[in-house]
Amino acid sequence: MTNYIFKDGVKRNITIGKLVCLARTYKKHAEEMNSEVTEDPVLFLKPASSVIFNGESIVVPKISKCLHHEVELGVVIGKKCKNVSKKDALDHVLGYLLALDITARDIQSETKKKGWPWSIAKGFDTFAPISDVVLKKDAPDPNSLDISLKVNGEIKQSSNTNNMVFSVERIIEFISQIMTLEPGDLIMTGTPEGVGEIKTGDVLEAELGDICSLKVNVS
Ligand code: MG
Repeated sequence: MTNYIFKDGVKRNITIGKLVCLARTYKKHAEEMNSEVTEDPVLFLKPASSVIFNGESIVVPKISKCLHHEVELGVVIGKKCKNVSKKDALDHVLGYLLALDITARDIQSETKKKGWPWSIAKGFDTFAPISDVVLKKDAPDPNSLDISLKVNGEIKQSSNTNNMVFSVERIIEFISQIMTLEPGDLIMTGTPEGVGEIKTGDVLEAELGDICSLKVNVS
């Protein structure tokens, strides 16, 4: 059980809960994966045990030969919600962060072919680096934030959350129809185009507007 770290330096006892992740939420990323954007978001879960923080290291698992970076807007839930409407969705948000949805792409490709779940490809320890949380009151509109990722100083992903197929409000509404969202749960809203391979020794630096940043390496 691990608590979030907050950008304002205040220690709050908010434990990281379930990580609810979306796929194919940016049209250009769906295209680069030869996937289609669907009417409802595609969902999967990552374990909270995969979280690491600023300055820590992604560990390459022995059974994968191809890890990919996916930079994403993270939404931290502050109030329990079930069947919430779009109109009320943001009332249940505590804040926002930058997340990397590290993916063993070779394992995911195999499981996609077989129709198996993605839990192995997405669930290794260290596969969810997250930044400090910026409180909602200190963040601008989550649907209009620049998001970018550099690997070894070179820009690999650069987009804006206004390119998402679904608004943050719609995402919360949709997930809360399926599972109760509880304080400390983290929604990883999916990645824009430009995903690619990372290798031992790489340094990953992500930015979300000018509100938060994240720097990790691959060990
Ligand atoms: Mg992702």
